[in-house]
Amino acid sequence: MHFDEMLMQARANRGCPDEHPWVRVSGGDDATAAVREALEKSLRESGMEVRLFRTGSLGWGDFEPLMTVHRPGGPEVIYGGVNPSEVSELAIDLLRSGKARADRALCTKGGGRLDNIPRAEDLPFFKLQNRVALRNCGLIDPEDVDDYVACAGGYAGLSKASQMDQTAVLEMIRDSSSDNGKGCSLPDQLKVLAEAQSDEKYLVCNGIEGDPRASVSTLLLESDPHAVLEGMLIAAHAARTGRLIVCVNAAQPEIATRVGKAIEEMESKGLVGNNVLDSSFSCSVKVRGVQPSLVAEEETALLRFLEGKQAMPLIRPENEGLKLLGKPGIVLLPEALSKISAVFRETGTEGNTVAATRVVSLSGDIGHPCVVEVPGDTTIRTLVDEIGGGVAPGRTIKAVGIGTPMGKLLGSADLETPVASGSVDGSITIEVFDSERCSVELARDHMALLRKETCGKCVFCREGILQMADILDSIAAGEGTKDDLDLLGTLGKAMETGSICFVGKTAAAPVLGGLELFRHEYEAHVKDKRCPMLKRETTVQV
Ligand code: SF4
Repeated sequence: MHFDEMLMQARANRGCPDEHPWVRVSGGDDATAAVREALEKSLRESGMEVRLFRTGSLGWGDFEPLMTVHRPGGPEVIYGGVNPSEVSELAIDLLRSGKARADRALCTKGGGRLDNIPRAEDLPFFKLQNRVALRNCGLIDPEDVDDYVACAGGYAGLSKASQMDQTAVLEMIRDSSSDNGKGCSLPDQLKVLAEAQSDEKYLVCNGIEGDPRASVSTLLLESDPHAVLEGMLIAAHAARTGRLIVCVNAAQPEIATRVGKAIEEMESKGLVGNNVLDSSFSCSVKVRGVQPSLVAEEETALLRFLEGKQAMPLIRPENEGLKLLGKPGIVLLPEALSKISAVFRETGTEGNTVAATRVVSLSGDIGHPCVVEVPGDTTIRTLVDEIGGGVAPGRTIKAVGIGTPMGKLLGSADLETPVASGSVDGSITIEVFDSERCSVELARDHMALLRKETCGKCVFCREGILQMADILDSIAAGEGTKDDLDLLGTLGKAMETGSICFVGKTAAAPVLGGLELFRHEYEAHVKDKRCPMLKRETTVQV
């Protein structure tokens, strides 16, 4: 099928919703499904002709499920934290009378102003974001390719790229993004794959997310799978390969189902298979569930898993490319792929903007955990205080973990650091710790998690994590010594240099950072045999 024909079909199928009343429910959990079900019932009973749109999550954490109500002639009204019991009152009343509940509305969008309800663009969550990779999340139906094509300019980029010479596609990706997503040099990886002489090459999307606090890949695959898949096809065309594999978290089978449905829709539209959109580009896309773990996120470990072996990293000579089943391959993240489709779509963002955004999973001791995409010069303080709602009243930010559970620890003096600066490059998970947190407990939590994650291949990681965890337990129990603090430092440095993958190399970072920033707390545990953060005299229980 040619793209113009597909676009016409999609527009015809979708119609022009803004001329009619509609309600959109956004979110990705069971509570969202319950709201949607209650709303369907209420709309049926009301006898009103209202379209109900389903979307995935917008990334707005505890404000979801969101319900957006559109009444022609007025602005969209967005209600947050909606319960099934109130949908009738909130949605039907507004649709009938035009009166919005200002006490329950989060904001309005488009159209005019409503009394006592802020505009979306006045709220930090919207005002401070520049959504490129996340552009459609929470706005379109992830299970309706027509929605992606007709409303989000979807597959126009693939149509354009598939008619271009591969080198030109590669150049366009290079021009648009010298630093895509996690700081990897994506154009270089594509170029290496494009130049590899082989009858088989693989492009793998790594969407498994082994860190339980990270949710960017999950959000993208759940809320906008076509943006990732379109970027994947464009990247595959540039890299001269047609063998694509999407790896998803096996613990979330609903994601595999959603991506599988998206691929079926693509097949029905001629977007997968031979001669995609009547071009010379052909491809196949498969979905694989991978048991989530930190180590499985490592590229060589993931490729080994796909070969049916244990997910265990390999030592790879610096100039040697990745291999799957002995053939060349590359591994890319959903965020980078979604940005590629943004670059090529018919109307869209400028390349520099694409390169300059960072998608961040924000969690920890804050008011509103969320997933956002912000300009790279946004400071961590702005993210935490303005978008995340800050820490609880009476508390201050003690530290933030970047790339937790094993990333850097930044103290309160470093909160003006831009999110895309060198010190936080390579990671997009930010966990906030407030002033009530004990730095020893914080390090113990990290080590307890990592204890289960090390694959055991290298001694420095395997033994280092165990030993560090034991020492931290002993310090927390009031049995630590000053020598233990020195040993923690020595072990941490050895793990950084002696481990072969990022798990072991960064495992000690929260401990080393804690010793640097809060050594007095470690020393107080040793000297006073108790946690200085507790307002009692007893020894800490482990
Ligand atoms: S650093 Fe740790 S997780 Fe990585 S290969 Fe070595 S033992 Fe396995």
